[in-house]
Amino acid sequence: MSSVPTATISRLVTYLRILGRLEAQGVKKTSSEHLADEAQVSAFQVRKDLAYFGRFGTRGAGYTVPTLRRELRRILGLTRPWSAAIVGVGRLGEAILNYPNLGDYDFAIKGAFDIDPNKVGLEHGGVKISHLDDLPRIIREKGVDIGLVTVPQAAAQGAADALVRAGVRGILNFAPTILEVPHDVHVEPVDFMAGLKRLSFYILNPQLREELA
Ligand code: NAD
Repeated sequence: MSSVPTATISRLVTYLRILGRLEAQGVKKTSSEHLADEAQVSAFQVRKDLAYFGRFGTRGAGYTVPTLRRELRRILGLTRPWSAAIVGVGRLGEAILNYPNLGDYDFAIKGAFDIDPNKVGLEHGGVKISHLDDLPRIIREKGVDIGLVTVPQAAAQGAADALVRAGVRGILNFAPTILEVPHDVHVEPVDFMAGLKRLSFYILNPQLREELA
């Protein structure tokens, strides 16, 4: 398969959320037009996004909601549980650990690490904080696949290196820095400050917003 744009993957997540709601409402059929309307993209975009992964639905008859939802879960790798660990349990790390709904999405935080001796041994959201030195052992023992980096910027690369050395292949990076990782490791940056900056640009330049494809 040729490479798939990141924006397509982001939209698949949105379509999946819409399909989840439709299924909960007992809706059996939907269409690219309806998905497009709800996702605020064009129907052409919906069909193009799905076409990267095969043919779904029938021309004129639309999509069967549970089938398309199942297919999107499979494409996104959400048919299996994922184990995550968090490095840095400060304001943000603690809030994430205490977020009650992570389990609903089959993402379980199995480990938390910090270097502050006053934090090591404490528990948040049922996860005990361990010292960073114990990261390699705990990551292997618990089969952790995903690392969340919530340390200060200056410590982020070191935290990522430790995760990668321990075998983690996906990192959700909250620190405001670009991480250097090997090719087989994927980093997803999360940055609400960047979102605020994009907002200020678009509020001041509404005419420069992308038109629906
Ligand atoms: P914080 O200072 O409250 O917490 C940082 C924690 O990391 C502390 O507990 C500290 O002991 C620990 N730590 C420091 N060095 C470490 C290391 N080498 N290994 C393990 N733990 C270590 O900071 P915060 O407010 O929670 O912010 C954390 C990070 O998240 C910062 O980089 C901040 O810029 C970023 N942030 C991002 C967003 C976003 O939208 N992405 C929002 C808020 C904060």
